[in-house]
Amino acid sequence: MMIVKQKFETGQRNFVFGHQKGEPVTNGILNGPGAGLLLSILRNGQARTRAELVQLTGLSRSTVSQRIDALLIRRLILPAEDATPSGGRPATAFLFNRRANVALAADLGVTHARLAVTDLGGEILADRNADLSIDRGPESTLGWVLDTFRELLAVSGHTLHDVCGAGIGLPGPVDHESGQAINPPVMPGWDRFPVRDWMSARIGVPVLVDNDVNIMALGEHWAMRPGVDHLMFVKVGTGIGCGIIAGGQLHRGDRGAAGDIGHIRVPTMDQMQCRCGNIGCLEAVASGGALAARLRDLGLETADTRDVVRLVKEGNTKAVHLVRQSGREIGGVLASVVSFFNPAAVVIGGDLAEAGDHLLAGVREMVYGRSLPLATQRLSIRASELGDRAGVIGAAVTVIEHFLAPEVVDQIIAV
Ligand SMILES: [Zn+2]
Repeated sequence: MMIVKQKFETGQRNFVFGHQKGEPVTNGILNGPGAGLLLSILRNGQARTRAELVQLTGLSRSTVSQRIDALLIRRLILPAEDATPSGGRPATAFLFNRRANVALAADLGVTHARLAVTDLGGEILADRNADLSIDRGPESTLGWVLDTFRELLAVSGHTLHDVCGAGIGLPGPVDHESGQAINPPVMPGWDRFPVRDWMSARIGVPVLVDNDVNIMALGEHWAMRPGVDHLMFVKVGTGIGCGIIAGGQLHRGDRGAAGDIGHIRVPTMDQMQCRCGNIGCLEAVASGGALAARLRDLGLETADTRDVVRLVKEGNTKAVHLVRQSGREIGGVLASVVSFFNPAAVVIGGDLAEAGDHLLAGVREMVYGRSLPLATQRLSIRASELGDRAGVIGAAVTVIEHFLAPEVVDQIIAV
């Protein structure tokens, strides 16, 4: 029996399917790749017409037509305008319809929240930034998120009926499977609160919950660096964390704790007490929260990371010096991680990254100075290009990729 295997670029990731010719049923009803895979192919532009789809998939023309019709009825694709002849023949080219549905996205930080409604291409249609303390507890916070989602839907001209899912990023360890925060150090009342189920019960769509740094890594990778297979996104804000893209996929580790570099011990810094209970953690030494506290000790008015950034932008030499030193401490830890993981890109984001080159200079100095040449030959160390939108776009991306996964599309299309 002949086995047809083809590799498709589906959006931002590779997708491989195996189809045995003549074998019945891979999607429950018909032979071969289902409507979901055809949508993936149309979405990434590998094919635009029925004929190209027939050639690429090995499906019969009638099967392709049947699945195309189903995708058209669901409005996940549209006839391409330039291919619609005026003589009444049916259109033969199709485009992914990114406006078929919308995604809800929430990036919740310790003191700040950003919410958005996006289309299926990850474009923000309406969004809101707000000061919101996560320590007001889960029901109050999520209630506000729910109300704001409804307002943003109205602003963007949509209703809950158009929503394909909601993505939520939380500033602490998250069990992605159950959609709960697990022992989050800065989120009183959130431990094992069923965030996913609470929200899903109220909006009636799938809800995906992840750690805030993971969604930032996803957002940056998906929107700005889809060709980079090995990437680390380091968030430097009130705390310090790292999201890892390995082999083009988010790497969460066994229990979702991968990338927790904030609690790696910095040698010679044992006098610094960390909120986790240990001493000398990177976060206690180099985070925006740590710098704000140190500048307060020096008599300056710095309540949080954003005050530190403000001072740097004003040219305050004490703040500049501390931020550069913070970059070196972070770079010292990253030098080890880079040697271990060999990423092609290290992206620095979070509020302290707004301090610009002072932080990056310290990071680069240590990583390029300490890692082996082979690991740094092609390594790019740059600030996040999405900036404070990385999290909210990443939260939307988790929803979009979940909704448009071929097996999920096959279920809702069912032909
Ligand atoms: Zn710690």
